[in-house]
Amino acid sequence: KGSGVVQHIQRTRLEQVDTLLVVGSGKGGVGKSTVSVNLAVALAQQGLRVGLLDGDAYGPSIPMMLGVRKRAASKGSEAVLPLAERKELPREKKLQPLVRYGVKIMSVGFFIGEEQAVAPMPDVLGMLIRQLLYSVDWGDLDYLLIDLPPGTSEPQATLCREIHLDGAILVTTPQDIARIDTAKALAMFQQSSVPVLGIMQNMDGFLCPHCGGHVDIFPQSQEVRSVLDVLPVLGRIPLDPAAVVSGDKGHPVIISLPDSPVAQAFVLAGQQL
Ligand code: ADP
Repeated sequence: KGSGVVQHIQRTRLEQVDTLLVVGSGKGGVGKSTVSVNLAVALAQQGLRVGLLDGDAYGPSIPMMLGVRKRAASKGSEAVLPLAERKELPREKKLQPLVRYGVKIMSVGFFIGEEQAVAPMPDVLGMLIRQLLYSVDWGDLDYLLIDLPPGTSEPQATLCREIHLDGAILVTTPQDIARIDTAKALAMFQQSSVPVLGIMQNMDGFLCPHCGGHVDIFPQSQEVRSVLDVLPVLGRIPLDPAAVVSGDKGHPVIISLPDSPVAQAFVLAGQQL
């Protein structure tokens, strides 16, 4: 009792989900949501059944990136309450996810209110994320991706402890400060025996729209690089102004600019999962 092995066995497995992955980052603003959305669509384009749970209440941008903003899951939204009840709901009581680009989507943003100035307390957010895993009618999925809040605090740690996660993908920029925080996230997953599948290195150089040249923006030190270098790099995504525009308009870059280097990097990353 209390040993790591027992804890591991007690973690709940989601019956209908073949592979449950989390997308995490050490800090905000590195492109975690952009990566989650585009990877989910990349997997769906391979013909896989994919769900995406947006658990980032500090920047619930996924609904906006997918053009489903303000379309709250109206029907049966009372089903997520009470938060403390962590078990599968009967199918008729479950929430219907929205479907966009072949991906089933649910967002904590639908429940906390987009205009709310104060973010929920971390423990409440953690409960909401876990509850949505059980309360949404995901159906049979090949992949369910959870876009985690940034950092390594309560929601992430509790999720690792309570739910069987098949893997984590870490998103970082090449900047030292981001990589130092990413190393903390790596340590959190390793301590919880969650396999870290690899790194998505975002904003990896800038693609100049005028000359097409590649400009490195963020400096890197060897010291920090060595900590993360044990991990495979699933993708290197350049900083591309076009990615911002398409994200803000509700069409992820993999849909709106499929031939761009950014979109191609996501396609390749999806093939490695
Ligand atoms: P996070 O989820 O880590 O907070 P987001 O995915 O919301 O980060 O990205 C933060 C901002 O950076 C968004 O405006 C997004 O459109 C932009 N962004 C992310 N990746 C890229 C990229 N490769 N090129 C250009 N802009 C990007």
